Amino acid sequence: MLTDDARRAADLRRQLNEHIYRYHVQHAPVITDDEYDALYNELVALEGQHPELVTPDSPTQRAGSDLSEDFPKVAHPAPILSLANAFSTDDLLAWEERNRKLLAAGTSLDYVLEPKLDGLSVVITYEDGMLVRAATRGNGTLGDDVTANVRTIHTVPLRIPVEGDAPPPRRLVVRGEVLFLKRDFEALNQRQQAEGLPLYINPRNTASGTLKQKDSRITASRPLTAYLYDVIDHSADDTAGGAVRWDTESEMLDFLRAMGFYIPPESHIYPTLSHIIQQLPDWEAGRDSLPFEIDGLVVKVNDRRLAAELGVVGKDPRGAIAYKFPAQTATTPLRGVTVNVGRTGKLTPTAQLEPVFISGVTVSNATLHNYKFIADLDIRLGDQVIIKRSGDVIPYVIGPVTAARDGTQTAITPPTHCPFCESAIIQPEGAVDHFCANPTCPEKVFRSLEFFVSKGAMDIDGMGPQTVKALMDAGLITDEADIFALEIEQLIALERFGQKKAENLLNAIEAAKKRPLWQFIASMGIEGVGATVAGWLADHFGDLDALLHAEPEAIINIEGIGAVLADNIAGWFADEHHRRILSKMRQAGVNMRAERQPQAGTQLAGKTFVLTGTLPNLTRQQAADLIKAHGGRVVSSVSKKTDFVVVGESAGSKADKAAQLNITILNEDELKNLIDRSQ
Ligand code: AMP
Ligand code: ZN
Repeated sequence: MLTDDARRAADLRRQLNEHIYRYHVQHAPVITDDEYDALYNELVALEGQHPELVTPDSPTQRAGSDLSEDFPKVAHPAPILSLANAFSTDDLLAWEERNRKLLAAGTSLDYVLEPKLDGLSVVITYEDGMLVRAATRGNGTLGDDVTANVRTIHTVPLRIPVEGDAPPPRRLVVRGEVLFLKRDFEALNQRQQAEGLPLYINPRNTASGTLKQKDSRITASRPLTAYLYDVIDHSADDTAGGAVRWDTESEMLDFLRAMGFYIPPESHIYPTLSHIIQQLPDWEAGRDSLPFEIDGLVVKVNDRRLAAELGVVGKDPRGAIAYKFPAQTATTPLRGVTVNVGRTGKLTPTAQLEPVFISGVTVSNATLHNYKFIADLDIRLGDQVIIKRSGDVIPYVIGPVTAARDGTQTAITPPTHCPFCESAIIQPEGAVDHFCANPTCPEKVFRSLEFFVSKGAMDIDGMGPQTVKALMDAGLITDEADIFALEIEQLIALERFGQKKAENLLNAIEAAKKRPLWQFIASMGIEGVGATVAGWLADHFGDLDALLHAEPEAIINIEGIGAVLADNIAGWFADEHHRRILSKMRQAGVNMRAERQPQAGTQLAGKTFVLTGTLPNLTRQQAADLIKAHGGRVVSSVSKKTDFVVVGESAGSKADKAAQLNITILNEDELKNLIDRSQ
């Protein structure tokens, strides 16, 4: 006869294993992370009370492993542990209570509180101050050897101590977390977008994928960061006793900092657990403004000897615990789908949800990205859907709860006609998105005007979306160029416009005519052309006319612009409708020339350069800036039109091609001489 507990444990095992399968294999979870955690914790508690109920197929026995066949294995000098979770202040208090029972009566406990960085664990070994090995956590005993990849991370010192000449420890094994800072992740996605490539969704998974690249050049091209927070082994002199060399966690962190490691910021010591509990609301409120994503906090017993004395349960040290923030996911019915039309005509379906409260915010809509996303996840109208809010980003739909369907759910299909202008909706061949192709679709025009005048674009003060709407409704503007033809009488005739306000707006419009060329280009709202790419275009062509007549081949020559984006840009400028608007704006006196014209008379003016290999002193960017500052152009590939190829160490095929084509090859000094002569 099974006891109730045994039956419940078996039931939990079955449920959890099924959810693990749905989540990891089918990518179609039917419960939220928190519901999963609740079941998991119930099983952990049951197994804790009745160890005889632990079976080999229990999900609690699944020692998290991220080993892959692509890398050689590294044995860690000590087990790389995980952390037990606390979901409430009660859990934290119970944790302290359990620890107290294991320690001598009256032992005083102080704590270090650290952010729980949401990345992946690495273990890095230094011998005589040199980085010799880096491994993933793997299964806690063995890890993947990712030394070449970790070497590309700029915050990881290749030699310690970074400053001063104190002798390095004979051997030091440190542990930390590899992640993308939020701004680096955004920059990475901007680059993807500029190149017309798909965006990364989640910084953690992207960090993990980046650290496990077989080709470390790919890792190097993505800006990972690593924070180090623990010493696993320190056998400088064997008598000192490995990792318990420091009395306290905070002294250990001071040591890491002195060696030149990047330490998790915001780590503090608190004299009691109550002090920590007092900090939790502030942390939760402030998590969105941290430079990295965190999934909770880690509370560590500050006294490292006491922590060692407390020992380990399973794979969790007793001396530390992860406090997980409350739910950022929720389940709610999908009531409807509305369609937004953007300035490029792209349709974005938006989920209309039964309002639901997620970590301090009521969410009533969430993006569904595009109709392929809806089809891929088989999201249906009337479904219970799982919503996630992470950081300050817009809430998104993770997927439907298929088990909750009752047969009333209906399929969601893309509209056949634009909800704003009734034109037919098209899906270009091979494209994921659907578009309204009508160039005069009022919604498209509104969105592009709204963008054109906004702060990040032409920055026309006093012309918010409402004014744009009012001007459109009055028939005064139908495109960007009309803005520059507005007259004072027309404005005064409008509601809400007095003489003063009208004058101010016209002054702001006048000022906008003088914006630099790059800013003007960025304001056109061409897909993939933000400030950076617009800057390259302005630098390269110097004049809008040159860009208007540019073939994709001329655009692709610019370092950083790929084939897809080049085609897109050339296509945009070739479009009759766009050309008409641009020509109207030129007549209205809008600036269309770059400020920094190639300096006539200098030796680099009109000359085209290609850079390859590593130069002894200048970085690639510095060399490019130097050339551009003297009127030259920098392009990415060598052709007959290239004037000079600047070659550094380990130059690639570009140098060979230059030799074949008989193009002048310069080293860094020769480049500098060329510039000096030209002054
Ligand atoms: P979990 O992945 O939920 O089991 O949590 C344990 C993981 O948290 C560890 O494997 C570490 O990679 C990670 N972690 C992030 N920040 C810290 C920190 N400040 N101290 C300890 N572990 C951390
Ligand atoms: Zn339309």
